[in-house]
Amino acid sequence: MKTEFILQAVQAVNHAILAHESEIESLDREIGDGDHFINIKRGSRAIAEMRDELADLPPDMVLQRIGMKLLSTVGGASGPLLASFFLALAKTVKERGTATLPDKAAAFAAGVEAVKSRGKADIGEKTLLDVLIPVSQAFTRLAAEGVEGAALLNELKRVAEAGMLSTRDMIATKGRAAFLGERAVGHIDPGAKTCQLVIQTVCDLALH
Ligand code: ADP
Ligand code: MG
Repeated sequence: MKTEFILQAVQAVNHAILAHESEIESLDREIGDGDHFINIKRGSRAIAEMRDELADLPPDMVLQRIGMKLLSTVGGASGPLLASFFLALAKTVKERGTATLPDKAAAFAAGVEAVKSRGKADIGEKTLLDVLIPVSQAFTRLAAEGVEGAALLNELKRVAEAGMLSTRDMIATKGRAAFLGERAVGHIDPGAKTCQLVIQTVCDLALH
């Protein structure tokens, strides 16, 4: 993974988030407090504006700076969770590099593990982990099997979408939606939607 790719992904994600404003905003209005889009937009814009200061840094430092920026700009529950993803990602990229696909999958998995422990949450709780965990599992398995390129990226997009949609029928046991009990059923989790959108955007960028 090169710094240039990360910086391109940052710009693409920023555009994708802005393009999905009403969708993300309405999800958090339905089962949260309505601030998720504002939180995410603030973070993604702040990172997009870091382009010049990140351009000459190695990938692990770029990811580490992104994590720190998310921590200081994105509020709510999602800010520290997404920050911990990037900080753990950065640490693993620094330790073992990203030369092979299993290296990349391991870095992603380390990020997801950090979110799990920070949020004290797991799969099936109607959170962004319902996207991140299945994607990480698929990434690890496919990388070990030697699946690469479009086959890998399209499958990761499919798993992310399925994970996002799976939150619709769940009862939330973490985050604000947990206060709603059965009333959260029928609504997709906003954090899961954001993560699916980010994964789709990064995969699409890598496909081209
Ligand atoms: P807040 O809930 O504080 O208003 P946001 O609206 O920015 O924060 O983010 C809400 C999202 O955070 C939820 O949709 C959910 O995906 C995620 N989330 C909340 N609590 C947790 C947790 N403990 N573990 C994992 N994800 C969580
Ligand atoms: Mg909220």
